[in-house]
Amino acid sequence: MPGPRISLAQLHRATGATRPAPPTQVPFSGQWRFDLQQVDGSSHPTVADLSECLFFSPGDGRIWLQDQRMVLMHAEALGGLRRELIETMGLDKARGLLTRMGYLSGARDAELVRRQWPDAEPPVAAVAGTRLHALEGVVKVEVVRVSYDAATGDYQGEFLWHNSSEDDEHIAVYGVGGSPACWMQTGYATGYVSTLFGRLILFREVACRSAGDAQCRVIGKSVELWDDPQEDLRHLQLGDDGADAEPAAAPLGPWADPGNSGGQDPTLVGASSAFNAAFHMVRRVAPTPATVLFTGESGVGKEMFARSLHRSSDRASKPFVAINCAAIPETLIESELFGVERGAYTGAGASRPGRFERADGGTLFLDEIGTLSLVAQGKLLRALQEGEIERVGGTKTLRVDVRLVAATNENLREAVRQGRFREDLFYRLNVFPIHLPPLRERRDDIPLLMQHFLHHYRERYQRDVPGFSQRAVKALFNYGFPGNIRELQNLIERAVIMVNDGELIDVHQLFRGGEDLGEGVLSLQSPAPGDSGGRLVGAPNRAPADTTAVPGQTLEEAERQWIAAALRRTGGNMAAAARQLGITRATLLHRARRHGLPIGRSARA
Ligand SMILES: [Zn+2]
Repeated sequence: MPGPRISLAQLHRATGATRPAPPTQVPFSGQWRFDLQQVDGSSHPTVADLSECLFFSPGDGRIWLQDQRMVLMHAEALGGLRRELIETMGLDKARGLLTRMGYLSGARDAELVRRQWPDAEPPVAAVAGTRLHALEGVVKVEVVRVSYDAATGDYQGEFLWHNSSEDDEHIAVYGVGGSPACWMQTGYATGYVSTLFGRLILFREVACRSAGDAQCRVIGKSVELWDDPQEDLRHLQLGDDGADAEPAAAPLGPWADPGNSGGQDPTLVGASSAFNAAFHMVRRVAPTPATVLFTGESGVGKEMFARSLHRSSDRASKPFVAINCAAIPETLIESELFGVERGAYTGAGASRPGRFERADGGTLFLDEIGTLSLVAQGKLLRALQEGEIERVGGTKTLRVDVRLVAATNENLREAVRQGRFREDLFYRLNVFPIHLPPLRERRDDIPLLMQHFLHHYRERYQRDVPGFSQRAVKALFNYGFPGNIRELQNLIERAVIMVNDGELIDVHQLFRGGEDLGEGVLSLQSPAPGDSGGRLVGAPNRAPADTTAVPGQTLEEAERQWIAAALRRTGGNMAAAARQLGITRATLLHRARRHGLPIGRSARA
């Protein structure tokens, strides 16, 4: 039986007080700089507002910051971990790791503030991050100056950090001297502000107590406004995207090995733990000859990961040949894979090699392998086992040396059970499975991907698009992305084409392909002048009374109605519905079951 949760908020509710007050509205009209007085200690969310999100639940061993579980740790223990990291991995790697850890915390906190205070003006919400950071016991932040241009979305801030916990720990071990050491805190600021603004706002510590300065001073600004962001990006593992450096001179992201600094993959961008976990798996298996099976939904970037795997392998100088099994008619798949001898069948006018032969010495990538016919599966298995193929209509056996990388968006075990996929082939392929997370499970990467694709399409279409409006940022964060990264990429490409030069991308330029948008997204939508698109759909399906309080209704009934509405809006996506409701997925699952509501497929998986 969980114990009581003790919080200020509860006290307030018990005494009939209302929720935290709505955020102070700060007028912005596109001017640079704004009056700092307007974001002083009294503007909402204040430290008191934020501390109302903090719940202690000692009875069941949990602490919550809204729906995020938190832990109280001894700073000294964290310091010990930091020291061990530095000593085992070296300063540089330890710094990267801690920077990314901070980034994730910052991204989480930004989501919390966005959810709790959806109407807060961006610079005000940004300052809330400094208060959360203080509340969490990390550092006291003093705002020196903040400027924000509502027209371009450009943000710059300068802050002083007092009582940095990282410095305390660093100085205790290494003393004063050397370079700035508030790595996690810098990562936090970058993660927080980037998530809030939907673009990469890079923070750098320009003075630090650990380096002998009187106090720590940090500057944050859009990545384009830094002359030399490479070093900072390297710690986030972001490569050089967004900056104008020559790729060859750029530091390497996680996707480019030393000695292979050539291409960087357009979709291999991320700092989230889900992304990094997948990436480390790729790095681990790349130098071996093992067969790799990528699994994951459509659009998560399976081919990009496969290419990256190839480039990090010792076959990098040999061909990478990709084939989408679902795109080739069943009658042609064998000749595509294994080649064909002249006259093998009507229309085979000339002999030609198949993909296996063309990939000789290199890597063959078979996408959507679950769609192969049983006959083709048998031939594939033989090719893998014997290292030999025969062309269709041929009599000669050809030796091929191919590393196979396969991908599927379906559950192959299930296909085996149903007799649609050969069990022996499945085990031959499933040597080293790597699951690629859907975008909704790596939402921390959304601002980085937005930045990346914006930069990419701005260049490709030669457009002058400064960034995204706040409404667009919020809409993208609230959207479920059934089509994953590919869908985000398409939305941004479309918007870059649609928007006028010099204007920020708004919601109606992003969503015009009939995407099913939840209420959270639609409520942000207001008709844009001259836009008759009106393609934003989703509203007609919803009962108008979705979230309207009914007199005489019990709390229990209201809760059921709210949960049902959220599940409807998100198409049964538990994680997205939980996010909309501001509760954990586990809580949502529990309550939905209690109310006898249908539970989405993501819950059963
Ligand atoms: Zn510092």
